[in-house]
Amino acid sequence: MCKRATAWERCIEFHGHSCPGLAIGYRAALAAQQHLQLAFSPDEELVCVTENDACGVDAIQVLTGCSIGKGNLLYRDLGKQAFSFFNRAGGKRIRIVLKPGVFKEGVSRDEVQKMILEAPEDQLFAFSQPAELPPERARIFTSVVCAQCGESTAEHKIRLHEGKKLCLTCCPDYSRGW
Ligand SMILES: [Zn+2]
Ligand SMILES: [Zn+2]
Repeated sequence: MCKRATAWERCIEFHGHSCPGLAIGYRAALAAQQHLQLAFSPDEELVCVTENDACGVDAIQVLTGCSIGKGNLLYRDLGKQAFSFFNRAGGKRIRIVLKPGVFKEGVSRDEVQKMILEAPEDQLFAFSQPAELPPERARIFTSVVCAQCGESTAEHKIRLHEGKKLCLTCCPDYSRGW
């Protein structure tokens, strides 16, 4: 008989390997579920705003049901091991940040991973209230056909260029480095 995979094993299966980064996301997801009293989000009840696109985000997707496809996983490219979670039902929210000093010099990756998996929550993370409110629910947009490539594109990603409706791939960039 096949034994049921543990939560950690399911994270490894999805991510492809076990690593300290995955362990961070695993512990952050468990902490969020406990603080927000929500197990898994079949729809958009739980929202995660991640401030990195590292290994840990994969564990968060597996355990919390926050995913890019459902629109309840939002990525901010800030390079921090920080995750904010919002429970739309009840309005509870929490920001979870990895404390500095977890990755010490001279400590092997295996030892770090073991420590992350076993350490008390407060030793790993700092908890606070996110300053912001939960982002709006995912919207469904009307599609517009790009006048250049002919591909259907969500309305809010269309630009006007010399009077023509163009997708972001076809529209010439004019950012001038800003
Ligand atoms: Zn990894
Ligand atoms: Zn186009």
